[in-house]
Amino acid sequence: MAGLLAGKRGLIMGLANDKSIAWGIAKACADQGAELAFSYQGEQLKKRVEPLAASIGATEMIECDVSDEASLDRVFDHIKSVWGTIDFVVHAIGFSDKAELRGRYVDTGRDNFLMSMDISVYSFTAVCRRAAAIMKPGGSLLTLTYYGAEKVMPHYNVMGLCKAALEASVKYIAEDLGKDGIRCNAISAGPIKTLASSGIGDFRYIMRWNELNSPLRRNVTQEEVGKAALYLLSDLGSGTTGENLHVDAGYHVVGMKAVDAPDI
Ligand code: NAD
Repeated sequence: MAGLLAGKRGLIMGLANDKSIAWGIAKACADQGAELAFSYQGEQLKKRVEPLAASIGATEMIECDVSDEASLDRVFDHIKSVWGTIDFVVHAIGFSDKAELRGRYVDTGRDNFLMSMDISVYSFTAVCRRAAAIMKPGGSLLTLTYYGAEKVMPHYNVMGLCKAALEASVKYIAEDLGKDGIRCNAISAGPIKTLASSGIGDFRYIMRWNELNSPLRRNVTQEEVGKAALYLLSDLGSGTTGENLHVDAGYHVVGMKAVDAPDI
């Protein structure tokens, strides 16, 4: 199938490098004919993101710190000035102090709790409000979450609470914007080695556990998250909103260690 997103324009937020989940989604969207814009966090990342964006024909690159309202305004003002309207937005952003992504959740400090919630949760609401203002019916909003929202995962700590709040916000936003024909969904991705995930304690062990115990007996790739995103961003998903689509090799349905899984 080709051209699923032909004629559509989308903003990808959260590209750091070619290991980013945002990159898997961006490539899938570009392959299906979408015109893309990227936002990036700070000058340092610009050097990495610019050649990637150029390699798939994206022309618009905008700096954005999602914890700064004025920065978010600049992004959507720019999109409005160059495109007028937008068809989809991908929010692939999360952050917490990695010193607190190990050890006990109960030791999370107030400052990091508030910062993590601001960047990883509120920013999606702030993005959706601005995007919806320039979206026509048929628009689609997408964020990335993780199973640590549903069950306790080692070291995920405050990010587990952030993802739980993010998943709840997807449902509220779906209801608010559904009346305007705009959909809002999440993908709950299995563990994938990226810049952000490498800050989580024992991440290699978590990946190995997922690989040995998920129904598909493997981990997922950025490309597989990209393919699932195509469904939610394109008209294939026109009847789906408020959904949390697991792309995790089925790990979320498993109740105990697989009988054939070796000890690790
Ligand atoms: P990544 O490091 O490639 O991407 C994280 C992005 O967040 C980076 O581009 C970073 O610049 C951006 N970011 C952080 N703070 C920001 C701020 N203040 N303003 C603007 N941008 C900011 O890592 P990733 O794993 O691709 O993460 C993307 C999303 O996927 C995150 O929400 C993450 O929680 C989620 N996720 C990741 C995994 C995994 O195992 N990698 C699994 C499930 C969900």
